[in-house]
Amino acid sequence: EVSAVGTGSILARGSLAHVGRYAPGKPIEEVQRELGLARVIKLASNENAYGCSPKAVAAVAEEMTRAALYPESFSSALAQKLSARLGVREDQLLFGNGSDEIIGLLTRAFLEVGDEVVMADPTFTRYEQNVAIEGGVSVKVPCRDGVHDLDAMLGAITAKTKLVFVCNPNNPTGTTVGKDALRQFIDQVPDGVMVVVDEAYYEYVTSDDYLQTLPLLDAHPNLVVLRTFSKIYGLAGLRIGYAALHPDVASVLHKVRGPFNTSRLAQVAALASLDDPDFVAMCREQNAKERDRVAQALLEMGLRVYPSQTNFLLFEVPGSGAAVADRLLRQGIIVRAGEGLGVPGTVRVSLGTPKDNDAFLRAMKHSIE
Ligand code: PMP
Repeated sequence: EVSAVGTGSILARGSLAHVGRYAPGKPIEEVQRELGLARVIKLASNENAYGCSPKAVAAVAEEMTRAALYPESFSSALAQKLSARLGVREDQLLFGNGSDEIIGLLTRAFLEVGDEVVMADPTFTRYEQNVAIEGGVSVKVPCRDGVHDLDAMLGAITAKTKLVFVCNPNNPTGTTVGKDALRQFIDQVPDGVMVVVDEAYYEYVTSDDYLQTLPLLDAHPNLVVLRTFSKIYGLAGLRIGYAALHPDVASVLHKVRGPFNTSRLAQVAALASLDDPDFVAMCREQNAKERDRVAQALLEMGLRVYPSQTNFLLFEVPGSGAAVADRLLRQGIIVRAGEGLGVPGTVRVSLGTPKDNDAFLRAMKHSIE
């Protein structure tokens, strides 16, 4: 028998009832077999429907000849290229096994038992889980129409607050906060509180009212910006994301992370991806087009759709999201029920290729009462 005694045991003892029927890592082939369907389309984890750049595929194949060697610990070649691209210094970048790992590094480094973390409700569920692992307290501030209520979040900061998460665009709602509102928020958060702006979907944003956060880094040592190669770059399976942050904060996180937290394959794939702007532009354009088209089709079904700046849509359904997700699953479309994401009565669908989206919309017509 195993008995956990670390702070992580707080989560181990907690309820996992929020986990939906569909487990994100479950192989599609297995779902296909269980359902007896020839084709199952997964629109559940906001992955890139167009795959990744062929340049990344070639780089990975080549790098396999060096698989026997440990990777370079600081992803230096990638840091060099990306720093020039983003206009930050190399020591302001830290890479992780997905941005998920960096969220965990932040909570591990900055939280003691009983410390508070302010976040929106709903937002990316990993924040709350990582806070729980450290024995911290998540202070969840309700969104307004799916958008972070930054004034209320500012008001929720106490002497115990160590971190604030702003997910922009927000998962699961897909919404963004206004440029001026976020700039003022970052200015007003006390210096001793880290502001983590999670921009996992940054490259999909087409709105003009979106704050560029990287230029604020020098004046705000407590600002951390998270980005990832999992979404528009299509490298979710290789696990690589990054933080842009103050070098002193970076050195703390470097001490906390494992020595080889990003693999050789992930590093070279990310590097090669940066050399394929055409692929990124294609994904961005296709996504924006499909986002408008699918949102419009859902609206025409009489459903309320949250305005999205991402590669997914959250929409309200009659009855429970889980029931609709179940009906879609039986027709071979995997989506996420809002109940597991903190938004009951909704469904979150990732945008796929036009063909996948058509299949989803056809199935939707049979899934709402
Ligand atoms: N932040 C947000 C808001 C996300 O939606 C995700 C992925 N679902 C992540 C972070 C983690 O991404 P990754 O670990 O693949 O970089």
